[in-house]
Amino acid sequence: EIGVLADQVGMNAYVVGGFVRDLIMKIENFDIDIVVEGDAVVLAKKFAKLKNAKVSVHYKFKTAVVILPDNFRIDFATARSEYYDFPAAAPKVEDSSIKIDLYRRDFTINTIAIKLNKEDFGALVDYFGAQSDIRDRKIRVLHNLSFVDDPSRIFRAIRFAVRYNFDIGPHTERLLKHAINLKLIDRIVGQRLFLEIKYILCEKEYLKALNMMKNYGILKFFSNSINFSEESLEIFKFLDKLINWYSVQINRNIEIWIPRFNLLFHSLKRGEFIKLLERFEFNSNYKKYFASQVFKSRNAAIRLKKNKNITNSYIYNTLKDLEDEFVLYLSAILGEKFENLIKKYYTYIKEIKLEINGNDLKDLGYKPSEKFKYVLDKLLELKLDGVILNKGDEIKYAKKLFEEIESG
Ligand code: ATP
Repeated sequence: EIGVLADQVGMNAYVVGGFVRDLIMKIENFDIDIVVEGDAVVLAKKFAKLKNAKVSVHYKFKTAVVILPDNFRIDFATARSEYYDFPAAAPKVEDSSIKIDLYRRDFTINTIAIKLNKEDFGALVDYFGAQSDIRDRKIRVLHNLSFVDDPSRIFRAIRFAVRYNFDIGPHTERLLKHAINLKLIDRIVGQRLFLEIKYILCEKEYLKALNMMKNYGILKFFSNSINFSEESLEIFKFLDKLINWYSVQINRNIEIWIPRFNLLFHSLKRGEFIKLLERFEFNSNYKKYFASQVFKSRNAAIRLKKNKNITNSYIYNTLKDLEDEFVLYLSAILGEKFENLIKKYYTYIKEIKLEINGNDLKDLGYKPSEKFKYVLDKLLELKLDGVILNKGDEIKYAKKLFEEIESG
């Protein structure tokens, strides 16, 4: 349908990039990117109207996102063909804009398009050897200045290499190493750099990627204190085992990059860690929140390791202010000896609730005050530790606790 509409307005439309790449490799991909020779906004609006879909437009960049009624999204972009968008060589007049658009992309494997217009519908557009590089499992840049133009491609190369189990082509690898030597990573803006490391940490084979980053000498651009050794590899694997357990048992989605990120930067001291978050341009609230969760986790780990007599209420009080992502990090640094403690926390301790609440205390004749929280917290601790068992006990002990408070 997009092709038919494109014909009506005299434009060419193509599906490009990741979707086509993954299609050739028979991998599912639901990110559809359309590139239009002509104004993509016009086409997107027509398409949205036809489909009764929502459209949001970025006039400056001539891009649009169409959200279909079933929430499926399609991105529309105008082929970028201006000469100043074209770093390495001046485009020839006869080059079609799709060719120039594809030339601006990161790697050959992403430079493939499928034409949607009626004439040539389904034709593969492959100017730069995308199909053969996909077949050969090779990551290759399109020109020698690719990493200089955009050093974040260093991370993208590694990410695609581990995701598809592709090699980085020898010439591309030389360029990549050269870019690293030139310290181009320092020029990547913080938010971009953060996204790149986050995406890598979300990959299934992220440990391979971290290993490549270590071998290429990339990790030190984050901090000189990173310790990514054989030993730490085992801790990462243990973390992944815990995450697996968690996702099966607890069935809640977590931000998987967070515990991995914390482990990667575990050997950074407080000041170094905060500096890193600043390099990543975390906003001040998020930075505070994130750092406090990390250092609470680290302290909790130290305390749990020292404590000889760990009660349920102690576990509860130690972990209750931590988000699950950070509890998982903490569990990884605690190690296998404490595996059951964490499992108990999620399957048992966290499930225990009091049967009575503030209203019941009021019904007993007490006036609501600060003391309520104290009493309820205390009751929960007693219940966690098996001292009180049922509602009758809860009420009995509530009265006792109030009496204790009254008598100082
Ligand atoms: P993923 O499955 O990770 O989303 P993708 O190929 O769809 O993979 P995106 O990051 O969504 O990746 O990018 C979409 C397309 O935009 C890519 O296929 C690529 O050609 C192009 N692209 C993205 N980032 C860059 C970049 N830094 N330099 C050049 N081209 C890029």
